[in-house]
Amino acid sequence: MRILVTGGAGFIGSHLVDKLMDEGHEVICLDNFYTGHKRNLLKWLGNPYFELIRHDITEPIRLEVDQIYHLACPASPVHYQYNPVKTVKTNVMGTLNMLGLAKRVKARLLLASTSEVYGDPEVHPQNEEYWGNVNPIGIRSCYDEGKRIAETLTFDYYRQNNVDVRVARIFNTYGPRMLENDGRVVSNFIVQALKGTPLTVYGNGSQTRSFCYVSNLVEGLIGLMNNEYIGPINLGNPDEYTILELAQTIQNMINPEVEIKFEPLPSDDPRRRRPDITKAKTLLNWEPNVPLQEGLKLTIEDFRQRVKTEKKLVIS
Ligand code: NAD
Ligand code: UDP
Ligand code: UDP
Repeated sequence: MRILVTGGAGFIGSHLVDKLMDEGHEVICLDNFYTGHKRNLLKWLGNPYFELIRHDITEPIRLEVDQIYHLACPASPVHYQYNPVKTVKTNVMGTLNMLGLAKRVKARLLLASTSEVYGDPEVHPQNEEYWGNVNPIGIRSCYDEGKRIAETLTFDYYRQNNVDVRVARIFNTYGPRMLENDGRVVSNFIVQALKGTPLTVYGNGSQTRSFCYVSNLVEGLIGLMNNEYIGPINLGNPDEYTILELAQTIQNMINPEVEIKFEPLPSDDPRRRRPDITKAKTLLNWEPNVPLQEGLKLTIEDFRQRVKTEKKLVIS
């Protein structure tokens, strides 16, 4: 099959590309390299079944493909809030263009949506029937509302134009290749502990998240794409931790001497988050199996290599 991955040079996208290439597909990756990097795809450059196109999805593009994994959109609050208008454009115009493309070539499109559509949830754990509690005018809205309208567009193209669609609601995912300056909690804590600087816990650290290792998430995305169920469907690991517990875990794994310091909680920060994955379990037969400690070990190892290389570069 010929498969398009938008945002394929990013964190989740590049792991997805690896898996699709290993499965023997022809893969086209579209990316504007805002938060993605060519180095994530180095091993495929030059492979005749792989093509990397520098392209901003807010502009139309014509390609012939069978499936589209639509992931292009910055995912870290630091990056999506840097240019919030652009984040809205990417979600609205970018998703519209990809749906237009899917309509023209009769491709199946999977939208990478997010647990952020549930906002600061009043229902816990979050199931797919919950409509969410989202501030429409806050600093996270460009992303949360952007993804909500992306879901709306996806379902409207399905109803109005018979586009074959899938919608995944992805919960916090971590793993190798997250950027050092990504700004999300797992990479921040790991980089801080490796550098011996204090771990920055926002608020009192009692807010919760549930962290899914990236290989598990990628299996879920591929499972949904090739299933008859349209979604929306939650993909995430239901093991829930407070942010303080996460800080202590990473502290103990890397450097028990490193301090934990408390900083102000950003506005609209969801207080708790945990997926109800009954649907994914029953309909996709999917369930994450990498425990936090194990996933963190692999992620820390990747960051250690990179921090080491950086030090070497500075010395030479
Ligand atoms: P990421 O920032 O590493 O990847 C996003 C990729 O999209 C990058 O390569 C970036 O350069 C590219 N991109 C951004 N805007 C673009 C544009 N206008 N045109 C072309 N390319 C563009 O983030 P990620 O963690 O890999 O997330 C991938 C997708 O999964 C996103 O849609 C995100 O919303 C969704 N998601 C991620 C998580 C998570 O925890 N990682 C959780 C929920 C949803
Ligand atoms: N589009 C695209 N590639 C395609 C087909 C469409 O980028 O192969 C864009 C198109 O330019 C438009 C959007 O997708 O901006 C929606 O297309 P659709 O055909 O649904 O709507 P229309 O072009 O009629 O507005
Ligand atoms: N967080 C933190 N310290 C950091 C980065 C994030 O305490 O250095 C907190 C953040 O306030 C939030 C949680 O960790 O409560 C998860 O943040 P992240 O940006 O990773 O993802 P999201 O808020 O989008 O789930």
